[in-house]
Amino acid sequence: MRSYNLIAPAKINLYLEIIGDRPDGYHELVMILQSIDLADRINIRAISDETIRVHCNHPQVPTDKTNLVYRAAELMMKHFPEAAAKYGGVEITLEKNIPVAAGLAGGSTNAAAVLVGIDLLWNLGLTQTEIEELGATLGSDIPFCVAGGTAIATGRGEQLAPLPNLDHIYIVLAKYRSLEVSTPWAYKTYRQEFGSTYLKTTEDLAARAAAVHSGEIVKAIVHKNATEIAQKLHNDLERVVLPAHPQVLQLRELFATQPGVLGTMMSGSGPSVFAIVESEQQGQVVKQSIREAIPDEDLELFVTRTINHGIQIAS
Ligand code: ATP
Repeated sequence: MRSYNLIAPAKINLYLEIIGDRPDGYHELVMILQSIDLADRINIRAISDETIRVHCNHPQVPTDKTNLVYRAAELMMKHFPEAAAKYGGVEITLEKNIPVAAGLAGGSTNAAAVLVGIDLLWNLGLTQTEIEELGATLGSDIPFCVAGGTAIATGRGEQLAPLPNLDHIYIVLAKYRSLEVSTPWAYKTYRQEFGSTYLKTTEDLAARAAAVHSGEIVKAIVHKNATEIAQKLHNDLERVVLPAHPQVLQLRELFATQPGVLGTMMSGSGPSVFAIVESEQQGQVVKQSIREAIPDEDLELFVTRTINHGIQIAS
């Protein structure tokens, strides 16, 4: 039976602004998403019976129908019943390297990999846009994860406009293993506290979303200038997550005072925090000094870098 090994990179948010409410209950967002070199590995294999089997090496990740990879495979089976009948089911093996429930789109990138993998296994010949549209029905971050790189994401996060590649900017990433922040909680709390400031009219929302294209951080990305980018990082969700989680606030403050750190921010709904640094070597120095300041084994630290791709077949 055929199988594919896929690489599914995590993302960070260089920018996250909540601009309003949507009739579907989600928020109108303006984000800049960036793929990073920290990635899960996924094997997807055709099996003769029409079932979906999931295996994972991470104890926090479910292997039942609640795993996003299961839902992605189920979606493909429903959408392409003739191919499912012809090729059978799939067995998916996840090697998790991306911290779970971290604001790094771990589940979303796995789901994107399964959509790409099944397209290959079943010779469907889908376009990138078709895969992204299927992904958007499962989760707002999935479309970005398909092609990855650097992009502006608006709407729920599923409307994408690519930006120039930003590879080789070095990042130090920190996440407490046992600390999880629920994305729905973060957005609900933000609405309760700051909902009165939301833009109300369709015109105002569209104008705000359009304005990001000429915004300061986009200019910095076009210049490929890490120092400028680091100064323009922004995440509205820090306003609710940092006060609720002193450990995350402490990490954020510690990163900000490290020599060689150009800028620091929480990613997505947290609780992971990242810092942009000048070089890989500087990243190792920063990682070491954070480790010395917080000698807690629960704290995971990574030195990684920005990359210009999403799902890839492993060579
Ligand atoms: P996002 O940045 O898209 O909000 P996240 O990085 O915060 O996502 P995930 O790592 O995707 O969060 O995990 C959120 C929850 O989803 C976890 O608590 C986990 O139980 C569940 N989950 C389902 N499928 C997966 C998967 N393939 N990988 C990781 N978690 C998964």
